[in-house]
Amino acid sequence: MNIARLLVLGTGGTIAGAGGNAIGAAYRPGGYALEVLVDGLAALGLPAQLVPQEIARIGSQDIGFAEWQALHAACQTALADPAVDGIIITHGTDTAEETGFLLDLTLATTKPVVLVGAMRPADAVGADGLRNFANAVKVASDPAAAGRGVMLVMGDAVLAARDARKAATSSIDAFRSFPRGPLGRVTPASLDWFGPPHRADEQARYPFPQELPRVAILTASAGMDDQPVAALLGIGAKGIVLAGMGQGNAPAQVIRALARAAAKGVPVVRSTRVDEGLVDRNVEVDDDRLGLVAARALGPAKARVLLMVLVAAGITDAAAVQAAFDAG
Ligand code: GLU
Repeated sequence: MNIARLLVLGTGGTIAGAGGNAIGAAYRPGGYALEVLVDGLAALGLPAQLVPQEIARIGSQDIGFAEWQALHAACQTALADPAVDGIIITHGTDTAEETGFLLDLTLATTKPVVLVGAMRPADAVGADGLRNFANAVKVASDPAAAGRGVMLVMGDAVLAARDARKAATSSIDAFRSFPRGPLGRVTPASLDWFGPPHRADEQARYPFPQELPRVAILTASAGMDDQPVAALLGIGAKGIVLAGMGQGNAPAQVIRALARAAAKGVPVVRSTRVDEGLVDRNVEVDDDRLGLVAARALGPAKARVLLMVLVAAGITDAAAVQAAFDAG
């Protein structure tokens, strides 16, 4: 049997969390070094060779451009290295969907790239991290995992990074997959794909940004006025994602202010503060007339990632931005 050689990039998160008390609530994300996790995994006897490389030891709420740049560069090197069969990234779950989607947009799909996290610290009773990690090894070792974009493995499910969304704060079944269901089911002993690779041998869709433009998420709420839009433009926002009500709605004066921003060349994408559901064009908001973009299936956090990548690539025209959101 061929033993897969997997690069494991560590960033911290609860999967590396240390509470020092198996029944306590408080813990430090990234409290354990990556080597400790990898040693724990090696003790399971999985048929894979793991090569650890620590990028950071932080809670993923603190992840940003420096870590994303380091992750992207390490992935690029590994994708080009014939001695590496797949890549696993250990990551906090708070922003796993953002990191996963950014890499999904900016990496080729030629080898498996798998994010994995946990909801319970590594030393908590009933910790889910080691099982999720073992599942991630199973996925990243499978040549049939390539061509599916960046994936997230949590709770015995394989989710496409583009579809994954954290939907619970503490349950170990914290992620949902929308609008498509999971790509597969995995356990340490089994892996079942629900369909063929849908992105086989794709090159990167977009260049990795040289720097991240300021793109803000504005959450709509009843009775709000248009001052927050003015404030965002005042701090130099290069793009705005509306976390709107329902199908991307907001009070009329907010929509008017967003349309004025769009007319000045600041792209505006209407997403939703609702957990799931599409935001389509021209439903209650006349996007054609106002120059706005509908986020379709992307929630606010992932819509912001895509808009940052587009703005960084010089794509700001509403029709072109809409085409990118439609491409999903
Ligand atoms: N805030 C932590 C993080 O995202 C905890 C969430 C987790 O890892 O499950 O790193």
